[in-house]
Formats: sequence, structure tokens, C-alpha cells
Amino acid sequence: MLCMECGAKAEKGLTTDVTDLGSCLVIVRNVPCYKCIECNEVIYTADVVKQLENIIEQAKKVMQEISIVDYSKVA
Ligand SMILES: [Zn+2]
Repeated sequence: MLCMECGAKAEKGLTTDVTDLGSCLVIVRNVPCYKCIECNEVIYTADVVKQLENIIEQAKKVMQEISIVDYSKVA
């Protein structure tokens, strides 16, 4: 996988995804991703993007001010 920003090599890793929905904040930990070794740009695969959307939808329904979700436990 190559970085879409600078074209350098992106390596497999884990990241924390934070989505600010205005009224609430959704924090997803242990999200599998590719991280650029040059610029730290984070790239998600299509499956991960879809899963993150699901998690955010669920969190919206709960409407807690801050939702912290462990990706490895829901995926
Ligand atoms: Zn890069």
C-alpha cells in the first residue's frame, strides 16, 4: 500500500479514529490501518471504512457525549 498524499510506503498498523459529530464525539480504538512512514497519513481499507460507519451510526443512537469503542471487539 502506498500513501495517497506523498507516495511513500504505508505500513500496516493500528490507529485511534476520532469522529466529531458536533453533539457527541466517537472514539474508535485499535482500528486497523496503513500508516505512511513519511508523513503519517492514515489509510483505511474499504472494509474498515464501512465498519467505522456502522460503529458511528450505533454511537449516534446512543447519543452519549463521548463514545469509546474498541474496534477489535465489534468487528
Ligand atoms: Zn505520506
